[in-house]
Amino acid sequence: MALTTVNVFALGGTIAMAAPDSGQPVRGRAKGPGVTPRLTARGLVRAVPALGHVARIKAIDFRRVPGAQLDDDDLIELARAIIKGRAPAVVTQGTDTIEETAFALDLLVGGRQTVVVTGAMRHPGLAGADGPANLLAAVTVAASEAAEGLGALVVMGDRIHAASLARKTNSAMPDAFTSPNAGPIGFVAEGNVRILLHPVEGASITLPAKQADTRPVLVVTAHQNDDGEVLRAIYGREIAGVIIAAMGGGHLAPKAADAAEALSRRVPVVLASRTGSGPVLARTYGFKGSEMDLTSRGLIRAGWLEPAKARILLALARRAGLDRRKTRAAFANYGGG
Ligand code: ASP
Repeated sequence: MALTTVNVFALGGTIAMAAPDSGQPVRGRAKGPGVTPRLTARGLVRAVPALGHVARIKAIDFRRVPGAQLDDDDLIELARAIIKGRAPAVVTQGTDTIEETAFALDLLVGGRQTVVVTGAMRHPGLAGADGPANLLAAVTVAASEAAEGLGALVVMGDRIHAASLARKTNSAMPDAFTSPNAGPIGFVAEGNVRILLHPVEGASITLPAKQADTRPVLVVTAHQNDDGEVLRAIYGREIAGVIIAAMGGGHLAPKAADAAEALSRRVPVVLASRTGSGPVLARTYGFKGSEMDLTSRGLIRAGWLEPAKARILLALARRAGLDRRKTRAAFANYGGG
């Protein structure tokens, strides 16, 4: 049987990192300048000969940067390249921002093509480097019928996560990826792809040729002793919207609540939770700065989307020119609105 073609887009990240001067991966904890993205897409693929049994690979050098250096324009260009490629796609990139890239691709590409994002927690010079196994598992998932129509996925450590749920919840350990709200939706074992759960249908964003609002969406974290100074400081800035990583179920200190209301008369302000899992509440607390108070003052609830994913959705919604009603409807797919 002919093998499925899978386009592998390499964007950099730890999976592609090596020491700058030697061209060789750094071994152990060698002193030196530290690793940076150096490996090409082809180099990554060549290091995993077993890929040849799973798919016909087209290796594409798309970017060679750490995850923290990718921006929204990169993700939009990537989505367009994936769609143009008309084949299942694997994206290799820095794990720091996999949860954002995967969600953006879920919104922009959706179920029309399988997209799997992966990376590595240990660079190629370390014992137990996980990049090759992650790449093999990601390509196995991308080439499988089982993954068709599920939207963008994250595959790390042989576990399959839905893009809207996946998060990096540990800064250094190899099992850094989890889906705190629901768990992984499947796994790869002995080369077989097993899907056990189907993700809910998420939002879909179509960008016009001329994007409506490309100004940044900012994320502001709430905390005790917060008098709303940051929210007031950004009031007059050129921004497309704001995500507030609020306390608990969507709570702010009283002065921050006043500043958030003022801001939301200018731009959409979305209330997410800084807790890491669970929804923003809708109808439990009635104190000043509570979720009920803030939604009555115009803030949009992010549902169970973490602040970083809420930023992606709001930024793409603004670029697509969605009005507030449609923006709320997009967040309603995740229990918000
Ligand atoms: N720690 C990161 C990684 O795993 C660095 C990055 O995101 O580029 O790839």
